Amino acid sequence: MAQKRGLLLVMTGASGVGKGTIRQELEKIEDYHYSISWTTRESRPGEEHGVHYFFKTRDEFESEIHSGLGFLEHAEFVGNYYGTPRAAVEEQLQMGRNVLLEIEVQGAMQVKQAMPEAILIFIMPPSLTELKNRLVGRATESLEKIEKRLAKARSEILMAHEFKYCVLNDDVSRAVEDIRAIIRAERLSALRL
Ligand code: 5GP
Repeated sequence: MAQKRGLLLVMTGASGVGKGTIRQELEKIEDYHYSISWTTRESRPGEEHGVHYFFKTRDEFESEIHSGLGFLEHAEFVGNYYGTPRAAVEEQLQMGRNVLLEIEVQGAMQVKQAMPEAILIFIMPPSLTELKNRLVGRATESLEKIEKRLAKARSEILMAHEFKYCVLNDDVSRAVEDIRAIIRAERLSALRL
């Protein structure tokens, strides 16, 4: 019998909304392959190549855009490229493994077009003030860059209705439980297909 394809779960939402924290909590209880993105942004202290991202030059990234398999999706976000390498995601899905992407909104819209079976979840911040506090608290960017990310967040939040599910992240454990409920429901509906 043919191997059943894994589920493709896409978590999207503004930078600083807590996608990474939710993912780390999910990782403790759900089994899935996390897709490590390529980016042209500089690594932050503590970030490792091949663990948090594959850190690439713009030339490397652009030649990958034009190569055969390239990216499942890619986007430019406040001055840097980010993208999901297609091959690893396809390989895992074909092996029947669930795959999780944690990406910004333009990329999630591309996945929505390219892979209608993907489960798209928009993570909503409790407020823009809270989002700003989180970005400032993270202390990884200059105030100027934080302002750019916040401006982007305002337009990203207006896209929330494009995604099948919206999860409020005012409490990480509740957001994780909401996502687990979505995964359970989607697993059941995939069984019925
Ligand atoms: P950061 O620079 O804070 O790590 O990421 C900036 C934004 O890019 C975040 O919203 C993050 O989720 C998103 N991002 C990370 N990897 C990818 C990717 O492969 N594709 C897209 N479209 N966005 C990504």
